[in-house]
Amino acid sequence: MDCGIPFCHNGCPLGNLIPEWNDLVYQEDFAAASERLHATNNFPEFTGRLCPAPCEAACVLGIGDEPVSIERTEYEIAERAFAAGIVQPVPPVVENGVSIAVVGGGPAGLAAAQQLRRAGYGVTVLDAQEKIGGLLRYGIPEFKMEKSIIDRRLTQMLDEGVEFRTGVVVGPHGDISLEDLRDTYDAVLLAVGATRPRLLDVPGNDLDGILPAMTFLKAANRVLETGAPNDALSASGRHVVILGGGDTGADCLGTALRQGARSVTQLEIMPEPPRSRPSTQPWPTMPMLFKVTSAHEEGGTREYSAVTTAFLGDERVSHLRVEIEGQNELRDIPADMVLIAAGFLGPDLTTLSTEAFPTTPRSSLLVNDHWMVDAGHDDVSPLFACGDAVRGQSLIVWALAEGRSAAGAMDRYLQGGAARLPEPLHPYATPWDA
Ligand SMILES: Cc1cc2nc3c(=O)[nH]c(=O)nc-3n(C[C@H](O)[C@H](O)[C@H](O)COP(=O)(O)OP(=O)(O)OC[C@H]3O[C@@H](n4cnc5c(N)ncnc54)[C@H](O)[C@@H]3O)c2cc1C
Repeated sequence: MDCGIPFCHNGCPLGNLIPEWNDLVYQEDFAAASERLHATNNFPEFTGRLCPAPCEAACVLGIGDEPVSIERTEYEIAERAFAAGIVQPVPPVVENGVSIAVVGGGPAGLAAAQQLRRAGYGVTVLDAQEKIGGLLRYGIPEFKMEKSIIDRRLTQMLDEGVEFRTGVVVGPHGDISLEDLRDTYDAVLLAVGATRPRLLDVPGNDLDGILPAMTFLKAANRVLETGAPNDALSASGRHVVILGGGDTGADCLGTALRQGARSVTQLEIMPEPPRSRPSTQPWPTMPMLFKVTSAHEEGGTREYSAVTTAFLGDERVSHLRVEIEGQNELRDIPADMVLIAAGFLGPDLTTLSTEAFPTTPRSSLLVNDHWMVDAGHDDVSPLFACGDAVRGQSLIVWALAEGRSAAGAMDRYLQGGAARLPEPLHPYATPWDA
């Protein structure tokens, strides 16, 4: 807490005031700690559960010891604040009469919506899904964060006056076109995520039983809503192979084990990461280390340096042929369900609009320094974007920081004045640019 220069501030894209709330916790003043925590983070109950904590990787104590357990402290502050009834709606003091449509109710859209609403805007969040939450609800499994945690926060936002419209697909073949939205609202913010899955171009990839990870995880999460099991998309009794050694792969692993898979194997194309910080990833950067999540502790096997060369089977996949570095022969692994968790290729812009939006080399939406999309004409309301749609598949903490920053930039643009809302990030910045 007395570390001189607190590098954790920069490690966190939100610029969380970590030493301040650590000290308030030490003084057992949880109300003041909650105020300091919420000053920079709209939803600490999400990041307190789910963030990989780049702040801890940057903690000064971590140079020679275990870092401060910042994420756990954040969780405690947030939960105690809810339990004590401190987390109350903060409706705007003055309505400014300006309307904003936010397309996408994931963490980026929600953070922006809350900031803008509290500043007096009339805010409507539209989402294609039946419920708000984005990947928090339909990607991340219940065993990592219960959906009730999202609903609790949405109640606060509803009481603040944010309007939610669910089951509304924005796009030329959807329920409302983006052009109509831009005619109706004074500004539009795109927070549509990066949903196009990266698939595998190897023989047999069209066999039944080979699915993008999100198809599987979404179906599993939907069971919570409908109560009806989805046998076609269940891992029950199956040999499951997951392609991709990252967090999405781990979520598939935990879900498949819970559904009663016969076996679960997670394959990663890269070599096994180191167990401690390599010299090429020094403090205070976030190192890529070997991770054991709670899902890994529950079972399944992991293989590294494993390249899939073919899927085998008649109609449905039965085996996966892999080449594992250091082994002379190809191996056929039994697999009657294959989940591809190999990352995402940016937002699905073709279903969003007939306009060709400018994109980055990584196929994400290109925005200017003010989070604005140059959509080629200015006879309609301005268009802004943030979150995974701009950064590419990332983390909740980045989505929140981008949502807050885009809200600040929109407010500046729409009010034609000085900055009133915090803008922790420039588009495409890393924390160390701040
Ligand atoms: C399986 C999985 C697990 C993850 N686990 C973690 C984790 O543990 N910790 C972490 O920090 N990060 C995690 N992430 C990453 C994190 O969830 C994302 O970075 C974050 O959700 C991005 O937020 P977003 O608001 O930009 O987009 P999203 O959460 O993707 O939300 C976008 C929303 O836009 C809506 N939408 C899209 N197009 C339209 C349209 N045309 N009309 C209407 N609505 C539309 C979608 O329905 C969706 O609700 C995980 C990601 C995945 C896939």
